[in-house]
Amino acid sequence: MSASFHFSSRYGHPTLGLSTHQPDLSVVVPIYNEVENLPHLLEAIATALEHSGITYEILCVDDGSKDGSAELLKQLSSHHSHLRTVLLRRNYGQTAAMAAGFNYAQGRIIVTLDGDLQNDPLDIPLLVAKLNEGYDLVSGWRKDRKDATLTRLLPSKIANLLIARVTGVQLHDYGCSLKAYRSELVSDMNLYGELHRFLPALAFIEGARITEVPVRHHARRFGHSKYGLGRTLRVLADLLTIYFMKRFLTRPMHVFGLWGFVSILLGLGLAGYLAFLKIGLGESIGDRPLLILAVVLLITGIQLFSFGLLAELLMRTYHESQNRPIYRVREVVEPSTPDTP
Ligand code: UDP
Ligand code: MG
Repeated sequence: MSASFHFSSRYGHPTLGLSTHQPDLSVVVPIYNEVENLPHLLEAIATALEHSGITYEILCVDDGSKDGSAELLKQLSSHHSHLRTVLLRRNYGQTAAMAAGFNYAQGRIIVTLDGDLQNDPLDIPLLVAKLNEGYDLVSGWRKDRKDATLTRLLPSKIANLLIARVTGVQLHDYGCSLKAYRSELVSDMNLYGELHRFLPALAFIEGARITEVPVRHHARRFGHSKYGLGRTLRVLADLLTIYFMKRFLTRPMHVFGLWGFVSILLGLGLAGYLAFLKIGLGESIGDRPLLILAVVLLITGIQLFSFGLLAELLMRTYHESQNRPIYRVREVVEPSTPDTP
């Protein structure tokens, strides 16, 4: 297999240094307990790219597997010159594993896919070709998806509709891991939570050109899915975050400050009216509910206003400190073989 590789394996550096031999493509695969799938996966990717003329690396991110996937990856990398492995210290979740992959990938194009062979590597050249038509992000669409209907397909359908509605990006299938990105795009985006499925939305905010292509999907042959119904809830929570980020993140003062200001104005108006009754007309105002309302409005207004100011400060810090990674790498395994003959 490796005999057909026509390009030096020395582009890989243990650190994130600039490489002179940048491959065209990095295939980023998050791996959590996929030991049985790994050999098939590597072979399928190599077969798919062998005659494509695309230079590539396969970047596997082991997300704290407990079934020996990490050990197998290390072994495999000794005779697989395209394979680079990043081992995370513990299980951080698929999003963090993908973020690590994005950081260590060296290709001009990054393709992500699942390590369980549910995505078909044969689709990779298709996505790359589409990307080369001038897109920044090409998302796979599992038109004929092979997962359980009630626990997976139905919640996913609803989630997809909601996400499209809230984010304004019109895709059929946000959950499909098989996606292709221009690497500059990826380096601008920060990931956490279950946010990897919102990458198209985040990319959209960055002004990316986005499209989708139908891709194959297979049922899992080895191992089992790491997710159940619980993920849908977390995805919905993340959707709220995205909604919030889209609307308020950059200018919290516009929301909180504005309402605080309105509340203060109303409170002042009422207080003025009550003061006129008391001082001007000599009426007693001590037992009037209106007095309580005026006081509540004033206090709430001042609170909201100061909250808006604080949020504004926080957001500044947030935006300035975005370089903090959400994972800690234990080790990076590079191909140890010299150039393949
Ligand atoms: N995965 C991961 N960390 C996790 C859970 C999953 O890296 O904590 C990887 C997993 O190995 C697979 C991909 O994410 O390559 C998708 O996971 P899975 O197949 O379980 O999800 P599903 O296809 O059922 O949505
Ligand atoms: Mg899967």
